[in-house]
Amino acid sequence: MIVTRFAPSPTGRLHVGNVRTALLNWLLARKAGGKFLLRLDDTDVARSTEEYAQSIRDDLVWLGMSADAEEKQSARLARYEEVLGQLAAAGHVYRAYETPDELDLKRKVLLGRGLPPVYDRAALALTEADHARFEAEGRKPHWRFRLDPALPHEWTDLIRGPSKIDPASLSDPVIRRADGSWLYMLPSVIDDVDMGVTDVVRGEDHVTNTGIQLQMFAAMGAAFPHFGHAALLTGADGALSKRLGSIGVSEFRDRGIEPIAVKALLARLGTSLSVEPVTSDAPLLDAFDIGHLGRATARFDEAELERLNASILHQTPYAAVADRVSLSETGWNAVRGNIHSIAEANQWAAVIDGPLPAPALEAEDKTFVNEAATMLAALPFDDGVWGALTEALKATTGRKGKALFMPLRLALTGQPHGPDMAAMLPLIGRDEALKRLGA
Ligand code: GLU
Repeated sequence: MIVTRFAPSPTGRLHVGNVRTALLNWLLARKAGGKFLLRLDDTDVARSTEEYAQSIRDDLVWLGMSADAEEKQSARLARYEEVLGQLAAAGHVYRAYETPDELDLKRKVLLGRGLPPVYDRAALALTEADHARFEAEGRKPHWRFRLDPALPHEWTDLIRGPSKIDPASLSDPVIRRADGSWLYMLPSVIDDVDMGVTDVVRGEDHVTNTGIQLQMFAAMGAAFPHFGHAALLTGADGALSKRLGSIGVSEFRDRGIEPIAVKALLARLGTSLSVEPVTSDAPLLDAFDIGHLGRATARFDEAELERLNASILHQTPYAAVADRVSLSETGWNAVRGNIHSIAEANQWAAVIDGPLPAPALEAEDKTFVNEAATMLAALPFDDGVWGALTEALKATTGRKGKALFMPLRLALTGQPHGPDMAAMLPLIGRDEALKRLGA
């Protein structure tokens, strides 16, 4: 059974990059009939808040990607402690005492000699007597994980193919601070093991972490999951933009973007498949294959999302929006081709229902629409009434094209553009239409 997880830190709102990561993991799990977990990486107690955690859950609900289960790292600290003890006994982790200044100095010396600034593992030489002395002085250790070329450091990435890191080129990562707080690295591995995570899809900024984490899985005696690293998103201009870090679900929602539009775009960005205006998850799930993602950065273009949103709405069946629009099915079918958002559909509903302010018409157009009122009153008010009315007016007034249609549209809808009047007029209804034309 495939188990994936989305592991945000509840230290802020989700941005579009996070949403994409969540979506890829959700698609992977749903397609395989597996499980999709929400794991809140909240070991940073100072910056994590329940409000952000709730906003993340709400965003996932809005996107239609609720998790099957939720886990919180802050509830698992005893477990991390236990594993640390086991890893310490097996020599995979060790205590160190260097201060940030001392470490900085070591790095500078190495760089000065043209060497990579890799931690020299001086702490490995400490004896039990040294530890006892430090403890007596009130100095607390931080913990490092000992990277080991003999442990696995290669993997076949679901997206990038054969991948590896060189453990000798990296400093042994600090996994726990002197104040007892945890860094992300080891808890994430412990969670993935305990939660049976089979597939981890995340941004390519985590590639080096993966190499390190493979070693941690092995140190725990656990098999490691499949890893896939998606290339990062850029803005429409192809540059890594700050703006992307601030656009998320609340902006989408404010702009009338539908959840399915967000999914339809983000599921295909950076893949070999084209973005299509789908109206449900099914076609996205059917076509999804993590291997379709390429290694090049993918452009997230807000204008493209808006266009996609509109074309999705143009095809959305009434049943999918019935609870959100104040329109009948006929009304929805009449207006959906002209809207960019559900809010616009409801503006058309208000136009249909009226009342409308009297339109500003030139005197001769006023006479013309009054004539239209008289004519309309004499016609059978059926689905063909708009055609019959305009044909008759054309014959009697000699008007055609814009001169014929525009005053009628303005009088009947108050707008110079909009849905097909042949569909709108029956929706407005006979009495209301006569009133608007006679006004
Ligand atoms: N909390 C980490 C992040 O948001 C999770 C990374 C991961 O998926 O392992 O970057």
